[in-house]
Amino acid sequence: MKNSRIQDILIGRRAVFFDMDGVLYDSMGAHADAWNKAFFHFGIDFPHELVYRNEGRTAQSTINLVFMQNEERQATESEIQQIYLKKTELIENYPEAIPFNGALVLMEVLKKEGIEIWVVTGSMQDKFLDALLNDFNGFISKEKIISGRDVTHCKPHPEPYLTALEKSGFKASEVVVIENAPLGIQSAKAAGIFTIALNTGILNNNILRESGPDLLFQDWNDLIK
Ligand code: CA
Repeated sequence: MKNSRIQDILIGRRAVFFDMDGVLYDSMGAHADAWNKAFFHFGIDFPHELVYRNEGRTAQSTINLVFMQNEERQATESEIQQIYLKKTELIENYPEAIPFNGALVLMEVLKKEGIEIWVVTGSMQDKFLDALLNDFNGFISKEKIISGRDVTHCKPHPEPYLTALEKSGFKASEVVVIENAPLGIQSAKAAGIFTIALNTGILNNNILRESGPDLLFQDWNDLIK
């Protein structure tokens, strides 16, 4: 990592808050595909692009949104359970998500410079949260993860990032967020934090820009070069 823009951005910062899927892991393709197939199983079309646009919602919120768009009604509890079960079954068939090497490279720099590493994710599945501690061993610790279980409101609400600020004790001005999804960017910006958008998915850059990030990079290589 040469003297890149990220090092300028980090001057005066005391923590980086990382989103998980699509930022730490190249996992969004599998999630998008599993959601698409789960809905297809129930005769409902949920295109991959719409999954990416709604990334960060809880499962319940996602399923309700699709029902509102397709059936003009909320999903029943039973429909939510069945579709979510199907999605979690399907995701088991995909290879384990691989960490982005760029994330590890940046964490090495952060560790050296004494900048704290936090994770703010809507995920609630133990499987993924445990993998996080394994794959980023030495960088991420359990008490520095804010998961879907720690909040009442998911992204795009600011609560996840406000909770991370409160728990870490840092001011918004001392932190940088790295997000890949429109709702995640909105959540971080609503919490008043400098936000880097990393477009690791299939959405057009303009869709991410509409959410108002401070900077946008095409991918990890672009950010840490
Ligand atoms: Ca994400």
